[in-house]
Amino acid sequence: MESKQINENENKTGLNFIEAIIEKDLKEGKNNGQVYTRFPPEPNGYLHIGHAKSICLNFGLAKKYNGKTNLRFDDTNPVKEEVEYVDSIKEDIQWLGFQWEKELYASDYFEQLYQWAIQLIKEGKAYVDNLSQEEISKGRGVPTSPGVESPYRNRSVEENLALFESMRAGEFPDGYCVLRAKIDMASPNMHLRDPIMYRILHATHHRTGDKWCIYPMYDYAHGESDSIEGITHSVCTLEFEVHRPLYDWFCNALRIHHPQQIEFARLNLNYTVMSKRKLLQLVQQKYVSSWDDPRMPTISGLRRRGYTPESIRTFAETVGVAKRDNVIDISLLEFCVRADLNKKALRTMAVLNPIKLVIDNYPDHQVEIMTAVNNPEDHSQGIREVPFSKELWIEKEDFMENPPKKFFRLSPGNEVRLKYSYIIRCVSVEKDSDGNITVIHCIYLPNTLSGMSDCNRRVRGAIHWLSVEHAQTAEVRLFDRLFNVPNPDDAEEGKTFIDYLNPDSLKVVKAFIEPQLLQTAPLSHYQFERQGYFCIDKDSQPNCLIFNRTTTLKDSWAKQMSKE
Ligand code: ATP
Ligand code: MG
Repeated sequence: MESKQINENENKTGLNFIEAIIEKDLKEGKNNGQVYTRFPPEPNGYLHIGHAKSICLNFGLAKKYNGKTNLRFDDTNPVKEEVEYVDSIKEDIQWLGFQWEKELYASDYFEQLYQWAIQLIKEGKAYVDNLSQEEISKGRGVPTSPGVESPYRNRSVEENLALFESMRAGEFPDGYCVLRAKIDMASPNMHLRDPIMYRILHATHHRTGDKWCIYPMYDYAHGESDSIEGITHSVCTLEFEVHRPLYDWFCNALRIHHPQQIEFARLNLNYTVMSKRKLLQLVQQKYVSSWDDPRMPTISGLRRRGYTPESIRTFAETVGVAKRDNVIDISLLEFCVRADLNKKALRTMAVLNPIKLVIDNYPDHQVEIMTAVNNPEDHSQGIREVPFSKELWIEKEDFMENPPKKFFRLSPGNEVRLKYSYIIRCVSVEKDSDGNITVIHCIYLPNTLSGMSDCNRRVRGAIHWLSVEHAQTAEVRLFDRLFNVPNPDDAEEGKTFIDYLNPDSLKVVKAFIEPQLLQTAPLSHYQFERQGYFCIDKDSQPNCLIFNRTTTLKDSWAKQMSKE
């Protein structure tokens, strides 16, 4: 099954199906041997991981074939579009590591699109229709039987020209009439049943202001914009496959450069939602703090969560280019960031759930400086110094008074290695009146530091620690999946995706960290040893660092699911 899918997505030469099309075109000398792609977001929200897939694909194809990629904002719906979104989209694309050839806007072409509409009217290929939206939908009918032609369909060219001019001049209210292409009301493809080209919308546009009160529809604006820019391969997602005959019809009717539309399967991820409408709802109704909340599948959320551009590019590459819709497991994304951060992230010790440990036989007030490697995967990242003293913090989970058989961490009478430091043995515990352990007492074995006579003494476990006197405090935000079901879009009757939000997707703890972390730069990545990857959040203050957990070291959900 799996190998069949791979064969479908990549042919024998290792090319994905879009690369195969491009190589064939190049061989046949089409488009003068040029490859020109575009990424066409509508600026009505922040970009998400699905857009990242499209960005990596469009920019990646151009890069591979020595071509170019435009960034074109598809800004034909003034009601939902904002400059804030334009800015965030540009920032996200550049952060992912791509640079566009030109920054363009569909609104740049409003005048040209208007002139072309007049041309189509003059050639009898477009008409002004006074039917209401509902009447137009009704008239289209169903795919299995022909629709009903509008009574306005056979207006004269002169009348259509005059009406269209009046539409533009603002003489009619919203919804009064539309411009439709005159194609085929009997076509089995509903998109060809006289699609709407222009609607009246008295709304201020974020770029053209109040200059226009008629706005082109997506299908009319998109192919024409591609054509104006000389795009050769117009890559889009599968839901546009049924629009392709219309894309082709407009290019042919206008006799303009005809880009080739190619569709691929959109990226779907489990345990999240990706429609901008739903993401906007999460933000507006404050289920998350903002578009860049680290639990969001937005590019800005992933960045704040500690994802690297490389990890997202690797993810997009690994997912590949498919012709059929599928759902990718979010653990693949987590795997990609772990693999990248394992190479890059500095190691450090942090105690997230502290309990005090006292080394009874260690001299009071003595401090030793231990050395630790910053990254065992990359020795060029050097070493750091960690102060050690009589009183330490360790994780509560690293001690058990009555341990089960395979517990190799600390327990009464048992020995463990303190990472980068001595071997210790637990001798007793102190408890409060409720029986809770408050302090763990140990002795240390003096000759067990690395390089000393007893350093090879056999112990099963090694735990992390911090010196109570030296440790600094920080806030740590432990994120988990935003939804607790794989497909929140697929809500049961009477429920919405909101009902599947994971109530434990954010846990905030006060933690102890190594003192030298206070000298670090924002957004740096760390591996908290034995715990996971963390990055510094932008809300941090110089004396109060905030860390976001990017991901745990292992896939805890895989374990959980295999138990179920
Ligand atoms: P949404 O449905 O989330 O609002 P959209 O498709 O309306 O997304 P656009 O701004 O129109 O968003 O998308 C810009 C480009 O990104 C389009 O070419 C679109 O096909 C592509 N794209 C959007 N979502 C995905 C996805 N999940 N996987 C791959 N490509 C996507
Ligand atoms: Mg869209």
